[in-house]
Amino acid sequence: MKKINLTNIEFENIKHKHLAYCKKLRFKNKKNLSEDDMKKVFIENPFDENMKLKRGYGKYKKGNTKINLISQYKNFRTPNNKKLPSWYGAKLIKILKIEVCPYCGQHYFSTIQDKNGNIIAEATFDHYYNKSTYPFLALNLYNLIPVCRSCNSTYKLDNNDIIINPYIGELGESIKFSLKNSDIPNYMNNKKIFVDIACNNELTQNHVSTLKLKERYEYYQGIIKSTIKKRIRYSPEYIKKIAEECNLSPDFIEASLIKQDLFSEDEPFLKFKSDIWAQIQ
Ligand SMILES: [Zn+2]
Repeated sequence: MKKINLTNIEFENIKHKHLAYCKKLRFKNKKNLSEDDMKKVFIENPFDENMKLKRGYGKYKKGNTKINLISQYKNFRTPNNKKLPSWYGAKLIKILKIEVCPYCGQHYFSTIQDKNGNIIAEATFDHYYNKSTYPFLALNLYNLIPVCRSCNSTYKLDNNDIIINPYIGELGESIKFSLKNSDIPNYMNNKKIFVDIACNNELTQNHVSTLKLKERYEYYQGIIKSTIKKRIRYSPEYIKKIAEECNLSPDFIEASLIKQDLFSEDEPFLKFKSDIWAQIQ
């Protein structure tokens, strides 16, 4: 749900490693690519502000210059266990420091290796522009989005340019979760609590509907109910009382002591819990 921070993570270094790796690959029509073409296909941002392909990328998919990198992508995602290269998918995800799916904000993902370095379970990448229609973007950094399996294989599928690309933008404050007010008292009984999602632009709306976020968040009734319980326990009046006793401001107590524990950065459901917290007073 958050934009991938390209300044903190030495993105130039990532680009350098990725380009060096890609230059060594063997693929169809490689000889037609100049140094500039290589950069465009592998490490430059191919999207405009509306997440559409920028002008000039058409030449890579036409006629003789069509470049097919799909099998090379498979090697990048799942390299030969016996001879791991110095650069591959799991390393990219690790350096990007992404642990929670940026599409849904719900799931952790990681690549698990055994003590010999063999990959047992691998994290997945969504191709923002699907690789069968856009094979020349199969290894473009900005087209490789580390995501959870549900987003990749169940919801996003081969849809192109209708959701937010976390290299370019973020859901951030364009999305707001809320519980239906009349349902909040139901946390005490077993009735289902329903979720609303408000979006302030069309792309966010597409993101939410394509990935079925309302239904997926509503599914986690245990998280909804425990967040309500915590909020009721730490009511504004209770926080005010603690603040008075400590001679500190209620905002400081809420932000520094309580919310920091309940909504740690980089944990799943962060935005969801924060919005519910703000809703219930
Ligand atoms: Zn996801």
